[in-house]
Amino acid sequence: MLPAFLGSILDLVVKTSTDLAPDVRAAMKAALDQEPAGTQSAQALTIIAENIDQAADGEGAICQDTGMPTFEIRAPIGANLAWMSQQIRDAIAEATRRGKLRPNSVDSITGKNSGNNLGPGTPVIHFEQWDQDEIEVKLLLKGGGCENTNIQYSVPCELPNLGRADRDLDGVRKCILHAVWQAQGKGCSPGAVGVCIGGDRTTGYAHAKQQLFRTLDDVNPDPVLAGLEAAIMKTVNVLGIGTMGFGGKTSLIGCKVGVLNRLPASFFVSVAYDCWAFRRLGVVLDPRDGSITRWLYRDPSHPALPMLDQAGFTRTGKEVVLTSPISEEQIRSLRVGDVVLLNGMMYTGRDSVHSYLMKHDPPVDLQGGILYHCGPVVLKDGDGWKMMAAGPTTSIREEPYQGEVIRKFGVRAVIGKGGMGPKTLAALKDAGAVYLSAIGGAAQFYARCVEQVTGVSLLEFGVPEAMWHMQVRDFPCIVTMDSHGNSLHKDVETESAKQLATLA
Ligand code: SF4
Repeated sequence: MLPAFLGSILDLVVKTSTDLAPDVRAAMKAALDQEPAGTQSAQALTIIAENIDQAADGEGAICQDTGMPTFEIRAPIGANLAWMSQQIRDAIAEATRRGKLRPNSVDSITGKNSGNNLGPGTPVIHFEQWDQDEIEVKLLLKGGGCENTNIQYSVPCELPNLGRADRDLDGVRKCILHAVWQAQGKGCSPGAVGVCIGGDRTTGYAHAKQQLFRTLDDVNPDPVLAGLEAAIMKTVNVLGIGTMGFGGKTSLIGCKVGVLNRLPASFFVSVAYDCWAFRRLGVVLDPRDGSITRWLYRDPSHPALPMLDQAGFTRTGKEVVLTSPISEEQIRSLRVGDVVLLNGMMYTGRDSVHSYLMKHDPPVDLQGGILYHCGPVVLKDGDGWKMMAAGPTTSIREEPYQGEVIRKFGVRAVIGKGGMGPKTLAALKDAGAVYLSAIGGAAQFYARCVEQVTGVSLLEFGVPEAMWHMQVRDFPCIVTMDSHGNSLHKDVETESAKQLATLA
């Protein structure tokens, strides 16, 4: 067999999870350079840049959601694909054991996490055989927040603010613009889209995702598609969605379009949205021993330059410092746009915890407390735990529960990303609480704000879904929904909808 194959795949998985490819770094650096200093998007981009550097330096996961591992492999005729699949699964389990991947594979009926990222459909491995004497392995790690913003259109259709999308290139253009708009900050913008025109519902999505294996700076060899990609990139940033949906100059860092034949009766436009933490790398392996002969998307002889050539997130003196438990008076004094630095105890809670709280009392006292929508990567460390990655998860999933949790248990601050809806906004106002946006994907940055993991409840839900008890220091967030009925997310969505209409 190939003695170096497993090690090569493990190297690929670790590098993909921890070190962003140069083309993505360049796009994010351009976004950072464009944003006027002091804006919320600029602050967010500074934290993102710091996080990218921290992840590469410390070989930690860039984002705590290490996503669905998707492998695209081309192997010589005669290669043992079953053996390779098993080796890949072993490498994934090992990367998970080392904390480079979060345990992310959950039984869809029981909700039980397999703990090692293995299970039916996980990881995704696609093989193709080719007539070259080498093995090419490409890997995409795409998380749930951005995966949930994928969208498929069946044209002709009516699109809000854009009118009718017909079965032509202009109709496709409208679908792509709508896809970016509807994602807002939920997919951790600025993102990139892979698009497929045509195919059926299944192949359309698969081909859209495959476009994400192209580099952000390439030019489509098909001049018609190249023109469409350029037209999107030239106009889309007028939407003003900005980083994390805070409003700003860059909403999209790449648009890559492919095309498949379709049935005469169908015309699908499928859009795969990837976040700024666009983790995609590849290797070429020697078919005799499985060793890496070269890397794709990166050149190890030219290490990536740091993202930040300045200090990272620095205090301006205007930040509001809060220590939990927080009083109603402190919360009522906050307004949308305020930057807060949190200290004291914070508790994680996402889908399983919220569902649990509908029927049970919380395992800890949440009066005046801070609830963090976060599914961290945590490793056992002797008798205790070590926080490895701790960025926010998409909050809107908790919209059906959040208002009740706030009212019933006295939570004063909810932290997450992407914003929440009207039910939560009403509860914030009634009960005196705020929604704080943390910067999506900044998992290393926020892990460094965790001084200690003091305990865990509901671990039976699995590591990402458990309630982690964390002592934090100077944990920065932005107030994006306050206790006076204001929501930055609602404002940006409304304003960007008007801009979308100008592109009809
Ligand atoms: S950066 Fe955001 S959307 Fe991307 S994987 Fe992380 S949490 Fe999910």
